Amino acid sequence: MPHSVRVIVFGRQGAGKGTQCARVAAHFGVPHVSTGEILRDAIARDTALGRAARVVLDGGGLVEDSLMISLVQGRLGEQDARTRGYVLDGFPRTLVQAAAFDEMTAARPAHCAVDLEVPREVVVARLLARRREDDTPEAINHRLDLYEAQTSPLIEHYRSRSSLRVVDGVGTQDEVFERFRATVAACLG
Ligand code: AMP
Repeated sequence: MPHSVRVIVFGRQGAGKGTQCARVAAHFGVPHVSTGEILRDAIARDTALGRAARVVLDGGGLVEDSLMISLVQGRLGEQDARTRGYVLDGFPRTLVQAAAFDEMTAARPAHCAVDLEVPREVVVARLLARRREDDTPEAINHRLDLYEAQTSPLIEHYRSRSSLRVVDGVGTQDEVFERFRATVAACLG
């Protein structure tokens, strides 16, 4: 097992990204850093971050880049992430965040960027079925539109740096996990 595993993961909301990232992180023994989870936890605990993020999450928009960048920089600076690495789920979400991420990890770049690919029609059906509080049809469509507009260019950014790996996210949880695990293992070299 390599010393450290550093992976960033893209995928539409509802692609099964959270579940798969948690499994892959557990498999490689590295922290699963989910920015959505950090924000939802801050909202539940009513911290200053939570109060700033609540309205944005309710509306299905994106939290301000500067706030997200300092949040992730802080989290990746913690001991577990510094020594073991991370499966970073939900960040970067914009080109500004990607530039900041590339800069903060310049000394030790991510091994790969994984795009967990699930078609839009499939994720809409899944999201409507899971009934999370911020999953109104309006919020879902807003988030998917934002994803196309802001996050898809990131996939091109990492494709051009040759660190992008596309994983087919359609299938059973175990099938997708196996593809994802094998892809990460392959980019560790
Ligand atoms: P997720 O669980 O990744 O779908 O994130 C839930 C919500 O948290 C998103 O719809 C955004 O409002 C917010 N969020 C999570 N990560 C980011 C990020 N990197 N930049 C901006 N907003 C984010």
